Amino acid sequence: MSKSAPNRSRLKRIPERASYNPDDIHAILDAAPICHVAFQVDGQPFVIPTIHARLGNEVLIHGAKASRLLKHAATGAPLSVAVTILDAIVLARSVFHHSMNYRSAVVFGTGRLLDDPEEKMAGMLAISEHLVKGRWDDARAPSEKEFNATSVIAISIDEASCKSRSGPPGDEDEDYALPVWAGLLPLRQEWGPLEADPGRHSDVAIPDYLESFA
Ligand SMILES: Cc1cc2nc3c(=O)[nH]c(=O)nc-3n(C[C@H](O)[C@H](O)[C@H](O)COP(=O)(O)OP(=O)(O)OC[C@H]3O[C@@H](n4cnc5c(N)ncnc54)[C@H](O)[C@@H]3O)c2cc1C
Repeated sequence: MSKSAPNRSRLKRIPERASYNPDDIHAILDAAPICHVAFQVDGQPFVIPTIHARLGNEVLIHGAKASRLLKHAATGAPLSVAVTILDAIVLARSVFHHSMNYRSAVVFGTGRLLDDPEEKMAGMLAISEHLVKGRWDDARAPSEKEFNATSVIAISIDEASCKSRSGPPGDEDEDYALPVWAGLLPLRQEWGPLEADPGRHSDVAIPDYLESFA
């Protein structure tokens, strides 16, 4: 992935908010809990939400072998992946200048089925750790049947861009005198207090890696 952008991924609107730097793109992919994968089958576009992880210059996804997304991605067909993190609604003095603070990334690449068992297991671990670091070592490992029923696909980050906005509203000079409150309405995605499964084994102590979430 290069730091400049070919035409397909070059941002035209407010390009100063764009970056093609792999470090910036990776940081947004890593911060987003889920992604949306776009693909086309027989001329019909689909966009499917799914869990992901980034490993090096690839985005990993997983799911049931029979899933259309996973089956299609395994063919090496072109894919696009998007992630979006909303940070705030930007309340300007004019309706026109309302905006959002956000971080988003769009990736173009192709899928590669991980069929080497070691690489596939490492992919599953990466996806698990992306969501809840420490969970993989605690929970039961996949059985052979579960492992075989799951596909893991690595999507190459061949081309990518990210775009972000931060900071206060930008109003027209003459509007700053208006008696309209302006500023940010922040949106903080945070994990809530743990809710224990009311079923069996409720006496198991909360592990340290989960304590740090709450
Ligand atoms: C937050 C989140 C995380 C997920 N993580 C995973 C994951 O890691 N692995 C995985 O395999 N699946 C995951 N899913 C489910 C995934 O979105 C699809 O539902 C699943 O892959 C369906 O596969 P399929 O082949 O049965 O259906 P498809 O043949 O792909 O879907 C048939 C049709 O069902 C509709 N549809 C499918 N999924 C959804 C949806 N989520 N919401 C609304 N309509 C839908 C669409 O119209 C689609 O064309 C996740 C969903 C969400 C919302």
